[in-house]
Amino acid sequence: MARYAVIGNPVAHSLSPTIHTLFANQTGEPVHYGKLLAPMEAFRDTVEQFRASGGSGLNVTLPFKGQARELSATLTNRARRAGAVNTLVFDRDGIRGDNTDGAGFVRDLRDNRQLALADARILILGAGGAVAGVLGPLLDTRPVGILIANRTEARAHELAAAFEDGGPVHACSLEDIPDEPVDLIVNAISAGLSGRVIAPPPKTVGAATACYDMVYSREATPFIRWAREHGARFAADGLGMLVEQAAESFYVWRGVRPETQPVLERLSDGG
Ligand code: NDP
Repeated sequence: MARYAVIGNPVAHSLSPTIHTLFANQTGEPVHYGKLLAPMEAFRDTVEQFRASGGSGLNVTLPFKGQARELSATLTNRARRAGAVNTLVFDRDGIRGDNTDGAGFVRDLRDNRQLALADARILILGAGGAVAGVLGPLLDTRPVGILIANRTEARAHELAAAFEDGGPVHACSLEDIPDEPVDLIVNAISAGLSGRVIAPPPKTVGAATACYDMVYSREATPFIRWAREHGARFAADGLGMLVEQAAESFYVWRGVRPETQPVLERLSDGG
């Protein structure tokens, strides 16, 4: 069996072991996938121990995606562009860092939800690591414009500046979002499950607007509820992104691309 795991802190509630076990059963790949809780100050040691004990690779979740980039001997282009690593590959040349979040996000929107991203006006709420991961692949789909709005406005401007060579991307504070319709609103604010929604102005959403919450939960998230109440064309949470980024990691490790639809259906049915 080749051994993989998701490493994070906390990690107990991660769905990744369930998803990868379903992928392994579906493809017949000899994969065992577990969970690895890394102490906050011992990420590197925990990775090295797993590798020394024969592990083949890791998925990295909060709060270690930046540290994972630092310990990678080499980076794929998409990991370098994102500035963060969510997939570690252990091979003879050392540790290679990759980032599959952006590919998973675009695949869920475009292939699973049939959303036309070319020429779309896109509003992103939040400017953290997840947004850095998806901006490159999102700009590659040639939207007409992306506006990043964030509580800490400076972080939004930093991200926009870092990606401005890739296409039309702008930034503002949460208070300065123009009250006019957009085609897609993406919520990447991590306070998303606390009950209080950090919502954009009401006219941003209309009958033609798709709303996507990167946060996922069994119940509709506050942002999803807000989107439905405001008549959004559709409102989806980030479960599809989670499954698609996992499939991309599985492909990176095994060279086999699992089918995601049966896994999504299984998880949506309650596991
Ligand atoms: P980060 O911690 O890097 O960023 C958090 C973002 O949320 C920042 O923009 C921060 O603003 C904002 N924020 C947090 N609390 C508040 C608040 N009370 N009011 C306003 N803004 C707030 O997290 P990530 O970017 O890595 O992740 C964001 C979310 O996306 C998480 O919920 C994560 O679970 C989810 N995610 C889902 C994935 C999936 O596969 N579906 C993949 C990756 C992430 P500020 O800069 O001002 O602090």
